[in-house]
Amino acid sequence: MTTEDFPSASQATLTIDLDNIIDNYKSCIKLGRGVDCAAMIKADAYGMGIAQVAPALFHGAGCTTFFVANLQEAIELRPLVPEANIYVLNGLFPGHLEYFSRHNIRPVLNDLEQIRLWASVTPENRPACAIHFDTGINRLGLTPEETAQFITDDSLREKLHISLIMSHLSCSDDPENPMNTQQLRDFKTITGYFPGIPASLANSGGILLGPDYHFDLLRPGLLLFGGNPAALPLPETIKPVFQITGQILQIRTLTPGQAVGYGATWIADKPCHIATINIGYADGYLQKFNNCGWVYAKATKLPVVGRVSMDMITVDVTDIEINAGDDIELFGEHITLEMAAEVSTLSQYEILTGVGARYQRIYKMKN
Ligand SMILES: *Cc1c(COP(=O)(O)O)cnc(C)c1O
Repeated sequence: MTTEDFPSASQATLTIDLDNIIDNYKSCIKLGRGVDCAAMIKADAYGMGIAQVAPALFHGAGCTTFFVANLQEAIELRPLVPEANIYVLNGLFPGHLEYFSRHNIRPVLNDLEQIRLWASVTPENRPACAIHFDTGINRLGLTPEETAQFITDDSLREKLHISLIMSHLSCSDDPENPMNTQQLRDFKTITGYFPGIPASLANSGGILLGPDYHFDLLRPGLLLFGGNPAALPLPETIKPVFQITGQILQIRTLTPGQAVGYGATWIADKPCHIATINIGYADGYLQKFNNCGWVYAKATKLPVVGRVSMDMITVDVTDIEINAGDDIELFGEHITLEMAAEVSTLSQYEILTGVGARYQRIYKMKN
């Protein structure tokens, strides 16, 4: 069954603009003054659909390097971009070796054990690999002790084809945080031991920290999808990439004192019109938006009132002329990821990756 089998406007829609993702990728390269740029497309391309996003970036933007979190994502990605470099961030585990070999996938090696395991594979069955050095996030990567050991272990290093050395910033969303300069300094020291091997430090926030952080390969995720990684104005060249549009199911008129939704948490203090919209927490519009979210219709921002239900939200439409069946923007040009994150205290990453499966998905790309 295809979506054409259903009447239009029976479902809320999620429209994803692949051209804007391509443009955001190109903007990252401009911000990096021409530095090579990968695409971080773990978690189904941040919820936007890896099957559409990866080929668009490969064919439309010339992106040839992709990172995913786990091996399953990589194996699913391989046929979508047969020529691309694919890295798996989560590392290498016994039993996975033949899958990396067979699908020509590159592991990001996160400790000495993984490095030795990879070195044990016969060279003809062994794609290149990345080495991840932990410079302070204490999550993945070689510890400082392991780093020191690896740097001096020439025989181990010589066995491998290392295509990338990398580290990951823990506080790139906060330009003033001293962690940034400390991690930069430590990563620079490490790169000194690997002359000629490309190095990578900057996620989206790191790209905005400036050229010192760019090295040889940028690793944006959030910027590709129109999010703002830092508490600074977003570069104007970064565009929103998705729009969520719901429809009004019913409108009712309330008198002062009447309550809206589960728990009766919102009470009218004057006569008002409340519209019920066909999107709820099952679609990823979480209860963090209870009584604080904003939607947009008829050139007006409208407040979410009451609790978010599984399949519905309720919105105060008293100030506008609007009818059942009319469209309401939950995200898009007027309600940005950044605004929604701020009112809900959700992160932009959580809002993106939480986008539900029930929407009718529309992918836009001019050809
Ligand atoms: C997810 C991830 C990125 C991308 O981060 P953004 O903040 O979305 O740009 C970069 N590097 C690593 C190691 C990651 O896990």
